[in-house]
Amino acid sequence: MGAKKPSPRTIRRAQGRALEKLAGQREKLARLEAGGSPEHPATLESASQIEVHARSLRCLRCDAALRVDEHLAQTIDGERLRVVKLACAACGGRRTVYFRIAPPALN
Ligand SMILES: [Zn+2]
Repeated sequence: MGAKKPSPRTIRRAQGRALEKLAGQREKLARLEAGGSPEHPATLESASQIEVHARSLRCLRCDAALRVDEHLAQTIDGERLRVVKLACAACGGRRTVYFRIAPPALN
């Protein structure tokens, strides 16, 4: 017999930790993307695009589709923003995205 093999439980725990770490990194990256934080809202031309856009996002943890949990209008730092709270039906992961509505300028 060679070296003792790690138990399935040890392997599962290590995998869990690795996945947690990866999810944490993906969440950190997502906060830097447009829409990931109130400082960097994604800009849309009309409010009707918000939920379409939000629904195109995937869970940061398991890549499943997200459902829109809440859709709020909030004033953050003096700016009127739309805040969409998403939840993953598969793993329960949550994601919040921020939007600024900026209608195209009429020429
Ligand atoms: Zn998920």
